[in-house]
Amino acid sequence: MSGVGIATFMMMPRVAFAAKNSVLSVRTGVQPNGKTRLVIETATRPSYDISYPQNQLVISLTNTGGTFNPKLADGTLVKKISGVQNGDRLNVVADLRKSIAPIDKSSVMVLSPNGDNEYRLVFDFAAGAAVAGGTTSSDTVKPQSEKYVIVIDAGHGGKDPGCIGRGGTKEKVVVLSVAKKLKKELDAAGFKTYLTRSDDTFLKLADRAEIAEKRHADLFLSLHANANPSRATRGYSVYTLSEKASDEEAQKLADTENAVDKIGVSGFENFSKEIRVALSALQQRAVAELSQEYASKCTKAMDSASVDKLPGPSIRHAPFAVLRSTVPGALIELGHLSNASEEKLLKSESHQNKLVRAIVKSVKNYDFDV
Ligand SMILES: [Zn+2]
Repeated sequence: MSGVGIATFMMMPRVAFAAKNSVLSVRTGVQPNGKTRLVIETATRPSYDISYPQNQLVISLTNTGGTFNPKLADGTLVKKISGVQNGDRLNVVADLRKSIAPIDKSSVMVLSPNGDNEYRLVFDFAAGAAVAGGTTSSDTVKPQSEKYVIVIDAGHGGKDPGCIGRGGTKEKVVVLSVAKKLKKELDAAGFKTYLTRSDDTFLKLADRAEIAEKRHADLFLSLHANANPSRATRGYSVYTLSEKASDEEAQKLADTENAVDKIGVSGFENFSKEIRVALSALQQRAVAELSQEYASKCTKAMDSASVDKLPGPSIRHAPFAVLRSTVPGALIELGHLSNASEEKLLKSESHQNKLVRAIVKSVKNYDFDV
């Protein structure tokens, strides 16, 4: 690679903000030690964050605009590079052939202008253990030896009770109780877990998803209990995120769960914009596939524990706002509070423990290393 950057900023589309910096060129090369080198040339001194969504390296440049024609060398770990403008940030998104070891921010070179070159950000990296999906800045990059991180989300809370059983049982209470038990058991099994809420607090859906991102979770489990106008309806069900619901019931459920924030899925402006950047089509597929895989482990474990299942497809899909993130995961409706006998079960310690054991098993059976 010769350092020829094509300055395309003259043709840059007008942007609604006055970006102080602009990307002039992006190029890759192979270092003598075999490492892939990624160089981003900018007009002024760059400020940036690194994140590692699955199979991608994203360099997010603050207060930056610009378009570029990436020059990709043969034999690197980078398949493709694109630029995604997100407000006043320009994200340089590199699709990778293999996952890479985290890049230590202290190893990133920021070169001052010389000769024909302006400022350059230089990243060298090799194939290695992937970092969990999500936005990380290098100082919070997860050490490879660290345990798998699971964020457990007890649905609803505070002013939002969720659904309420005939006997007065509140969804928010049942799911918090199960979430706490689940945390305890997963911690004991060697996972690192976080609860989105550990008491009766109201949390927005985007905040819950964001906790999963911030914790660099490997898996996100959102726990709920269901209600149905038909009192006879009972059983658990498992859902993953998709833009289109798998059936009308799944869509209705997503509408109900999403209504918590009184904002539709499309009302997720701030959050989803950021996530959309990280979520290229490729990555959306990756997250969806992993989520699907977890969901199938979950239904298997629930079935083998003889937990009653809602008749119909094993795994359903719908646009749940809380699942909208770079973290694979599922929304589990533990049962129906609208069914009198299941309401009783959901309140009972022994049934809650049974559910917890099944979910722990599903997590153990899930292949985090895919
Ligand atoms: Zn719910």
